[in-house]
Amino acid sequence: MEKREAIYEGKAKIIYTTDDPDLVIQYFKDDATAFNAEKKGTIKEKGIINNEISEVLFRLLEKEGVPTHLEKRLNEREMLVRRLDIIPVEVVMRNVIAGSLAKRFGMEEGGSLSIPVLEHYYKSDPLGDPMINLFHIRALQLATDSEMQEVEKLSFRVNEVLRNFFDERDLILVDFKLEFGRHHGKILLGDEICPDTCRLWEKGSLEKLDKDRFRRDLGKVEEAYQEVARRVVG
Ligand code: C5P
Repeated sequence: MEKREAIYEGKAKIIYTTDDPDLVIQYFKDDATAFNAEKKGTIKEKGIINNEISEVLFRLLEKEGVPTHLEKRLNEREMLVRRLDIIPVEVVMRNVIAGSLAKRFGMEEGGSLSIPVLEHYYKSDPLGDPMINLFHIRALQLATDSEMQEVEKLSFRVNEVLRNFFDERDLILVDFKLEFGRHHGKILLGDEICPDTCRLWEKGSLEKLDKDRFRRDLGKVEEAYQEVARRVVG
């Protein structure tokens, strides 16, 4: 398998083609951005940690019936993944009130939700990922109804599996973002799952062990990522 040219560079990752048209390489950078890239920085070894954590979580999800784009982790910063036609809809799943949900409803962070909440956002950097609903997705033909039913079913399954996994490691899975794509007619979970894309709070103390430490200048950012890696990767 041969690495070829970069076809996409995002805020945290670079995607390279390979000599196999079905496979691409996902390279994890240390760069971190927040508030639609208004705030920029780097988190030392974040790329290595997120690559490792994502591998463990994708493998777990595969085992629990969620098809993912993971083929295999290649080295510290690179993961070989199936090439996806990304659905331009980000799915956010929430178990606890935090972040933009707390802001939107003027509520304290940490409040409980009686059921998990699934939200859709239109994947667009220039627009800052605005929130949308299934009618927008249908009207703009971002995905078919049956694709979105599959996305919803898989997202709830991911939440169930990851909540239990983190709970066993004394972490509360507050919320997280998922991306899905099409691969030979099948919907696969893509992107990454890591402290950049999940809110994880320590059980008991409710200490934040995720990207909010960077977003909100809480300090000990690297330490938080390392602590999550220690509990997930071992
Ligand atoms: O900011 P908000 O509260 O809507 O974020 C919900 C969850 O989705 C958080 O875990 C956040 O890290 C994640 N997220 C993300 N990428 C985005 C937006 C949110 O990973 N573009």
